[in-house]
Amino acid sequence: MTTADSGSTHDDGGKKRRKRKGPFCGGKLHGRDGTCEQAAGWGTPHPGHGRCKLHGGCAPSGRAAGAESQARAELARLGVPPVENALTALAAIAGEVVAWKDMLAAKVNELSSLRYKTEGGEQLRAEVALWERALDRCGKFLVDMAKLDIDERLARVTEQQAEQISAALTAVLAEMGLSQDQQRAARAGVARHLRAV
Ligand SMILES: [Zn+2]
Repeated sequence: MTTADSGSTHDDGGKKRRKRKGPFCGGKLHGRDGTCEQAAGWGTPHPGHGRCKLHGGCAPSGRAAGAESQARAELARLGVPPVENALTALAAIAGEVVAWKDMLAAKVNELSSLRYKTEGGEQLRAEVALWERALDRCGKFLVDMAKLDIDERLARVTEQQAEQISAALTAVLAEMGLSQDQQRAARAGVARHLRAV
């Protein structure tokens, strides 16, 4: 037994263009209004992202933009938060490097002897080698960080943010039509809350 019902056919007579799903290329159409509705990255090494091959997707800048979009999407898929402030992130890594070195130093301190005997002779304990390596890396990392002036740059960022907050606050207080006394009280309140954070 066969049934003739092989699913309904949708014949739109070619009048209705099937609405294509994005993401689209979005490049400006040549010589007319509108943007390209070709699939993003069509015919390029970065399918699904960026411009199509007809709108610069294969040019160096188009490739770079497509690759960046692809990388961002991949990070988002993995749930990796973007690094908002590379300096803060670097400072955090430095903290971990130092903590690792200290942890190994404590382990080495706990050892009753730094060497042990095997059939092949006396061996230096693995903890000692690890600690020495951590010490080297730590030193190199801190020297690199010092070269970057991270503390000073971070301080500058914070100062900039404080100025931005202050300017925004001044504008808001003025817009609210508060008296001088009220403005002073509001500023003091905000400062108190910011310090509490
Ligand atoms: Zn295009």
